[in-house]
Amino acid sequence: MKTFIKNGTVFKEDGISDGILVIEDGKIIDTDYLGAIPEGSKIIDAKGNYVMPGFVEIHAHGGGGADFMDKTADAFETVAKTHRKHGTTTILPTTVAASYESLLKVFETYRKVSASKTINYGGLHLEGPFISMEMKGAQNPAFIRNPEKAEVDALIEAGGDVIKKCTVAPEIPGIDYLAKKFTDNGICLSSGHSNGTFTDIEKGFSLGIRHITHMYSNTPTVRKINQTVYAGIVEAAYYLDDMRIEFIGDGCHFPKEALKMAVKIKGVDKINLTSDAMRAAGTNVSESFLGECLPENRVIIEDGVAKLPDRSFFAGSIATSDRMLRWVHFDAGLSLSDALRLLTLSPSKAVGIDKEKGSIKKGKDADIIILNKDLFVEETYLSRDFMEA
Ligand SMILES: [Zn+2]
Repeated sequence: MKTFIKNGTVFKEDGISDGILVIEDGKIIDTDYLGAIPEGSKIIDAKGNYVMPGFVEIHAHGGGGADFMDKTADAFETVAKTHRKHGTTTILPTTVAASYESLLKVFETYRKVSASKTINYGGLHLEGPFISMEMKGAQNPAFIRNPEKAEVDALIEAGGDVIKKCTVAPEIPGIDYLAKKFTDNGICLSSGHSNGTFTDIEKGFSLGIRHITHMYSNTPTVRKINQTVYAGIVEAAYYLDDMRIEFIGDGCHFPKEALKMAVKIKGVDKINLTSDAMRAAGTNVSESFLGECLPENRVIIEDGVAKLPDRSFFAGSIATSDRMLRWVHFDAGLSLSDALRLLTLSPSKAVGIDKEKGSIKKGKDADIIILNKDLFVEETYLSRDFMEA
């Protein structure tokens, strides 16, 4: 049966339409339908609101009180439900530096939930363990290590089918082998938590790294080492045309002027926003934990961001995609179409799922959200919601 979404402003990949969006069998089959709606069809009335592609979140750790590193199906579903409520239709559960065994457990849990009706799981994002000790941020140093051939092989063997993105530091020993194995498996390699210089990032680029993880958070810029100045990741990210950049779009980690500059230099297609959300995202708690729920991991939540108890550092974002859209459009002043792209098509391109995801276009999956004019989510639909039972 066909579904018709009427009375909406439809944000298509190639423009805006006041026509009717037509969906059949989970796919978009028309974006500008103006004819009559056949009797007996399913109709969704968008009531004058915006009809948009669902958000694609390629870097999130948690939400709703749960973290993917809790490694249970319940935790995955809690995070998924929380982000879905805020318009995310595809998510890449993100791990942190952890033991090999712990990662295996995540792969196992992921496989259990991957057919979930709550959200589209787009594959896992491994943020570490192969990152720089100097740029570890909030990652646990006990689990940061260099990639040994045996572990790289074992990870591909055990998780090659579920890993979609991996954040690595390109300057650490063993990266050449990892890059070859991972890119051969279609995994998006992203440079992050790296202390690399421009030259290191250029080398990483030649090995297939095409993405920067949360730029300006543990990604050094120009600096002096032993009285010599070096350019860093930031300069390489702008200089290399085909390098895509991810920013944390919560309005706290990164200023709107820097976003405007990035969009001016790279264009909206090469920039994507992620929440990097921790477990307190989508809740109104004032205390939480970064990573495991242990006393030493306690953080406080204030001003819309997680902080260490002594307020010396941020301890993660609590943003959701709809909040990021509001920040980019209302605060940074990007057009609504451009703002939306940073949270939909650009992240889809970054991890290579843009054939099916990330925009309203004929033939693509009908992951659709309806937002009111204040950019709060009214409805979230996954393509599977439009399939015959
Ligand atoms: Zn992260």
